[in-house]
Amino acid sequence: MNKIFVLAILVLVYNCKSSVNTEAISKTITSNQIEEMVKFLASDDIQGRRAGSEGIDKAATYIENQFKFFGVKPYFETFRDNFKFENTKFNSNGKGSEYVDAFNVVGFIEGSDPELKKEIIVLGAHYDHIGIGESIKKYGGTLMENDSLANGANDNASGTSAVLAMANYFAVKKNNKRSIMFALFSAEEWGLKGSRHLAKKLKESNLDVYTMINFEMIGVPLNDRDYLAFVSGYDRSNMAVKLNEYAGHKLVGFSEVSKKYQLFKRSDNYSFYEAFGAPCQSISSCDLSNFDYYHHVSDESELMDYEFMSNLINSIIPAIEEMSNTLEKEIVMNQAQSDG
Ligand SMILES: [Zn+2]
Repeated sequence: MNKIFVLAILVLVYNCKSSVNTEAISKTITSNQIEEMVKFLASDDIQGRRAGSEGIDKAATYIENQFKFFGVKPYFETFRDNFKFENTKFNSNGKGSEYVDAFNVVGFIEGSDPELKKEIIVLGAHYDHIGIGESIKKYGGTLMENDSLANGANDNASGTSAVLAMANYFAVKKNNKRSIMFALFSAEEWGLKGSRHLAKKLKESNLDVYTMINFEMIGVPLNDRDYLAFVSGYDRSNMAVKLNEYAGHKLVGFSEVSKKYQLFKRSDNYSFYEAFGAPCQSISSCDLSNFDYYHHVSDESELMDYEFMSNLINSIIPAIEEMSNTLEKEIVMNQAQSDG
């Protein structure tokens, strides 16, 4: 039986349960689904998802509701993994520091194999953003309508939507022998605070993290590449080689820009690498040469390429599926490493 046939049957089976929204459980992620999620998270109503803001609370509630809708369980007692971080940049008086309440949102799908389920694959993305950006006030000498809201569509509503889409997929398919954790981090923009908190907590509970894949800025395609996205820290492990092997085509590759700017150390994968020393890397399609609006008020949902995003996510899913089902841990750190 080929995969498409299996998927068709699954969709049919679920279609028969009339209480379930069939769109949410369809086996192939559509560009419309992704667009809907990104548009919500990057809407003006969410106010740029700054950690500690009202807007990010709404974003977290949305993510929780999506998890519930898909049938994903919380990893902890509730979906929210609370923490505080010290904000030394600004406070209401413009000086000193203050403690900000923040929360990651963490869902979980237990593996089906009694032994392999103890090995965890973490799929993550930061869902916070910077909130208010530098407003665009002047254009050609005239005062323009201020837009100081940094909506963060590419950074990182895009990665958040990818993690949610995969949660949807695995919640329906339920064929992962290893367990999969879906982690949406807050306060990445304040120095990887949310992922540091979660990685430390999981390490203290002796969790066996096999791999961590972090999705960071996947909203626009790379230029002139024969692969869809790059893996940060490319040669630290055989992650990219294995993902391509599992996908059956060249899905991910190397980025000179990632190596130059050490992007491996600049997103939430690094917190997990530091805690576990395991293959923990980011997948991204933004190498700063194909998107002009990094941390800019013009990082808007209208600029995202939803066909590209759904294609990328649909291509990654079979690779992660295979990763969750191999008998041995095939993805391992390389002996010789560089910082890419
Ligand atoms: Zn980011």
